[in-house]
Amino acid sequence: MYSANYVDQHLVIDVYLEEVKALVLHSDNDFYVSLKADTTFIPFSNVLKIKYEHNKMRNGVWVNGNYHYLPITIASDKPIEFEGNRYNGMFKLISSQKGSIKIINSVELEDYIAGVIPFEIGIEAPYEALKAQAVAARTHTIHQLINSKHKGDGYDLCNKTHCQVYKGLSSQTEKTYRAAIETSNQILIVNNKVINAVYHSCCGGSTEDVRDAWGGRRSYLTHVNDSRANDNGVPYCSLGGKYVKWYQSAYQWSLRKSKEELGKTLKIGKALSIEIIKRGKSGRIHRMKVIGTNGNKTLSGELEIRRIFNNAKSSNFTITDKGSYFSISGKGFGHGVGMCQIGAIVQAHLGYSYDDILLLYFTGAEISSDWILDDIGIE
Ligand SMILES: [Zn+2]
Ligand SMILES: [Zn+2]
Repeated sequence: MYSANYVDQHLVIDVYLEEVKALVLHSDNDFYVSLKADTTFIPFSNVLKIKYEHNKMRNGVWVNGNYHYLPITIASDKPIEFEGNRYNGMFKLISSQKGSIKIINSVELEDYIAGVIPFEIGIEAPYEALKAQAVAARTHTIHQLINSKHKGDGYDLCNKTHCQVYKGLSSQTEKTYRAAIETSNQILIVNNKVINAVYHSCCGGSTEDVRDAWGGRRSYLTHVNDSRANDNGVPYCSLGGKYVKWYQSAYQWSLRKSKEELGKTLKIGKALSIEIIKRGKSGRIHRMKVIGTNGNKTLSGELEIRRIFNNAKSSNFTITDKGSYFSISGKGFGHGVGMCQIGAIVQAHLGYSYDDILLLYFTGAEISSDWILDDIGIE
C-alpha cells in the first residue's frame, strides 16, 4: 500500500532521497521538528545537524543536541536544502535496518512533477511538449503509486531512474512549474482507470506494440505511426534535426560489431551469421539467434539485444554481413512503446497542443482530472 495521502485536497507523496548516518539541513527560516503527526512543533535554528544513534534498543537521532526516537518529521516555511539541492514540502526521517536513516521528501504531487520534467524531456522543449510530459509523468507516477514498487520500503517512490529522477527545486524552472500547474491533476485514463503511460526518446517512425516488446495486451499501447495524414504522413521524429540537438544520433545511427567479439561475448566461438526470429511492428528485434563456430545463442528481449550490440540505442536495426564484422544500421532510441519524445517536441513546434500529442501515442485514452487515488485502479 502507498503512503501517499491527501492534505488539504493536495496529493502528497513520499519520495526517498538517500540513506545516511548523519546529515545537515539548511533553510532560510526556522525548522520545526515533529515527533508524531499531531505533536507540537518545536522551533529550531535554520541549520539542523542530525546524527543517527542506536539508544536503549531503539533507533533515534540527535538533532542539534536533542535526542529523538525515529520517525521524525521536519518542516520549514522555506525550502529545505539537503546536499546542495532544495526541496519543497517536509522531510521524514525513518530508521533503516542497516543502522542508518532513510531520508524521505514528502512533497505535493505537482511540485514533484515540476521537478521530474527536466530530467525526462529537458527544459529546452517547447511548452506544449513540456505539458504533454507533465501529464505522462503524472500518469506514470500514479500508476507507480498503485503498483507500489517500493512496498514495505516506507516510501512511495525513489529519486532514481528506477522510478523517476527527482532533485527537488534545483532542476525545475518557471516553465516546468507552469507546465505542471496548468495540467494540474490531469492523468491519462482508459475505462476510468489510470494507464501505464510509458515513453521513450525516439520511436524511429512508428511506436512498438507493448505485446511485442514486453508481452501482455494493452489497448492504448499499440503500434501507431508517429505521423498524421494531414502532415503528409512524415514521421514527426524524422524532423527532429531542426529542433532537437541530440536528434542526429537518435533517429538514425549505425555501428559495427566484430564477429570475433560477438562470438566471444556469447561464448560460441566466432559468430558466423544472425537469424532474426521476431521483429515487432516498429521494426525492433525482440528475438534473434546468433550462429557461431562453436554453438548457437538465442537473445531475447530488446534490452539484451541492445546490450550485446554495443549498448545500441534501440533494437530497431538491420544487419549486413561485411566479412569480419556486421554492419548495423539502426533507427530510434529506446524501447519504442508509448510516447515518442522527439515526436512530441516536433509536434509542439508545429503547433499541436499537449492533448493532441498525447492522444496520438496513447490510442483511445482520455485526459481526466476527476479521480482519487483510492478508487482509480490500473488499466
Ligand atoms: Zn524506485
Ligand atoms: Zn517518433
